[in-house]
Amino acid sequence: MSESDRVSYHMSKADFRKHGYELVDWIAEYLDRVETLPVLSQVEPGEIRARLPRDPPAHGEPFQNCIKDVDEIILPGITHWQSPNFFAYFPANSSGPAILGELLSAGLGIQGMLWATSPAATELETHVLDWLVQMLDLPKHFHSDTEGGVVIQDTASGSTLCALLAAREVATGFLTRQSGLSSKLVAYASNQAHSSLDKAMIIAGLGTDNLRHVPVDADFKMIPEQLERMIQEDLKAGFKPVFVQATVGTTSSNAIDPVGEIGGIAKRHGLWLHVDAAMSGTAAICPEFRHIHDGLEFADSYTFNPHKWMFTNFDCNCFFIRDRKVLIGTLSVLPEYLRNAATESGAVIDYRDWHIPLGRRFRALKLWFVIRHYGIEGLRHHIRRHIALAQEFASWVKEHPKFELAAPTPLNLVCFRHVGGDAINQHILDAVNRSGKMYITHTRLANKLTLRMAIGQTYTEQTHVRNAWDLICRVAETSSDASISEGAERSMPAR
Ligand code: PLP
Repeated sequence: MSESDRVSYHMSKADFRKHGYELVDWIAEYLDRVETLPVLSQVEPGEIRARLPRDPPAHGEPFQNCIKDVDEIILPGITHWQSPNFFAYFPANSSGPAILGELLSAGLGIQGMLWATSPAATELETHVLDWLVQMLDLPKHFHSDTEGGVVIQDTASGSTLCALLAAREVATGFLTRQSGLSSKLVAYASNQAHSSLDKAMIIAGLGTDNLRHVPVDADFKMIPEQLERMIQEDLKAGFKPVFVQATVGTTSSNAIDPVGEIGGIAKRHGLWLHVDAAMSGTAAICPEFRHIHDGLEFADSYTFNPHKWMFTNFDCNCFFIRDRKVLIGTLSVLPEYLRNAATESGAVIDYRDWHIPLGRRFRALKLWFVIRHYGIEGLRHHIRRHIALAQEFASWVKEHPKFELAAPTPLNLVCFRHVGGDAINQHILDAVNRSGKMYITHTRLANKLTLRMAIGQTYTEQTHVRNAWDLICRVAETSSDASISEGAERSMPAR
């Protein structure tokens, strides 16, 4: 053996073990103290990069240096999504079993594009997703022993794109994927639908001009009669309606579209019905909230994210499809180098054909660990708790003479505002977020700046919600007119 054969730059197994234990300790301590850190990172643009060395290291460094820099350079630039005082956007919560599942997935380091590239990855995924059909009481046509099925994808955005592509192919006789697009295809969603559909329209080649934004009622739910009217108008004008998306829990206000009525219209006109329940779908684990899925029997596809509210680290999105042949027919490309006996036999699922990328991570592990750790009982307990906390917060808003609810609170998102107008709401938003004690975000409802309090972080308890409300009230009470108009000029939102 030559000298150079003996040289290795790899981390030794002994060092991996040592640093691995240290890192798990670091994560456990981080989760213990995350509540004390400023929730919203307070750094200026460029500040983190300025503290990193200009050139990559020519020689390897001890792993401890990496951890030291994480503490000193990276952490100040982290917005702490796992803080119990995080109430912004929608949550991206996590949990011990999910983190360990991620770690194990990295340790196994498999790439599960084909059944043959790790049969357990495919079979566990199919099995755990069938559990979800049962746990959420979803329509039977999404179960793997029917013509449909489920797959774990990266995000809800990816699922929406897949659904739109499948709808496009159904509507064009599976010709578009080869020969390009007709610009006459149109899609529909409420004017509150998530922007991922606009992006999907761009990527799928339908174009954003061909996305119709259906008006909503006073509770921000799609008005089915308006959908019907728009479809009729498009038909008269020579367009081809192909797709409608209903949302269960819109991003701005958590509105739940009337899926059944929308589904009836979709069926009558032969449109693909996609249901986006990105965050709110998780609530269906509790029987008393299953009404959010009324009408789901009409859906051709459905998506929800365990990575938002089901204690499963980002990323983990579940995409359910009524007819898997349609999805596979839309996305399948089989080059020679991926051919194998199991695929040819037709006896296995190859999830590579069920989403946009070829390669895929072993995400089912963390979902499996989460479901086994909590059990249905544990998941229900925590989801109910979050919803109860949101209802309590909403009741405080209702009782306060200076605040109002801006939308109904069906689940765990409270949309509210100070009655004093946009400037004071902007001031409250900026001040509470600058304090580092909590983090909320905003939207516009009825053209008024509206504050959003989303309650779904794993460790959020009543004290965190109470402290957040007290801080909001204190800021509102102590705001001088001068500071409000100054703050408003500085940072009015773009929309
Ligand atoms: N749909 C809805 C209703 C959402 O609220 C979101 C994100 O908040 C998305 C889709 C996009 O989610 P993802 O980041 O998984 O693409």
